Amino acid sequence: MQVRIADHMGMCFGVRDAIEMAHSLAGRGPLTVLGDLVHNPDVVAALDAAGVAKARGLDDVETAAVLLTAHGTSDLVKLRLRDRGKEVHDATCPLVTRAHVALRNLVAEGRFPIVVGEADHVEVRGMVGDLVEFSVIRSEADLEQLASRLERRPDDRLGVVAQTTQPLAGVLALVEALRRRFPLADVRFVDTVCQPTKDRQSALRRLVEEADVVVVVGGADSNNSRKLAELARSLGRPAHRVAGVGELRPAWFSGCAVVGLTAGTSTPDSVIAEVRAWIERL
Ligand code: SF4
Repeated sequence: MQVRIADHMGMCFGVRDAIEMAHSLAGRGPLTVLGDLVHNPDVVAALDAAGVAKARGLDDVETAAVLLTAHGTSDLVKLRLRDRGKEVHDATCPLVTRAHVALRNLVAEGRFPIVVGEADHVEVRGMVGDLVEFSVIRSEADLEQLASRLERRPDDRLGVVAQTTQPLAGVLALVEALRRRFPLADVRFVDTVCQPTKDRQSALRRLVEEADVVVVVGGADSNNSRKLAELARSLGRPAHRVAGVGELRPAWFSGCAVVGLTAGTSTPDSVIAEVRAWIERL
């Protein structure tokens, strides 16, 4: 059995920089990360070992220094932390900041803000956290959230961005569906899907042409890892997302000649190498 490796597989720069920042700050004194720095259990374990505390919410932050994750945070959260006298360090990925700025500019143009993404994902909560009104949509069924508004104002101005880790093809299809559903609305879409996500999705499309089965290495909470597995399945290949070797099952590979291997943007190279070695041993 051969293992084919997808292009663009290493950790993205946004996640790598955030981890480096956490370890460097932890070396200077007590530090709390607000939320999961990245959705990868090995990286989280390494931070635990370095003594970095994790807080679920503002009330759980007990250290003076607090680190905001690569997923980004609303200005409101930053303000509240500073009001409490916290020393705020920001590891927001520049490509997430770009999405925040795009959304803010659309609102400044007088458009109703719409985010294509997962409403309960930390990145999306950060994007909409400073807005008074907004919609988060993920499928055509979600367009009905906008129906009563557009019935009152059929020529309303709408501004659409995407969560950075959404598959671009799906986002574009949803924007088209939005235009079809509300033909009089003035819809402006700004593509905020990040380049590392686009590169991975394109590489996976090439990989499935050669592979009988696809393995995506990434944590269960990693949106882009889940989307990679969904894309492989939508292209007709069985796909399994695993956080590490412990989740691999020999039965998945029975009768397979070529296994395609890819990984989410927050997966360390060491975990990918372990998974690759496990499959090659099989
Ligand atoms: S997935 Fe994209 S937006 Fe998220 S941290 Fe990586 S480069 Fe930045």
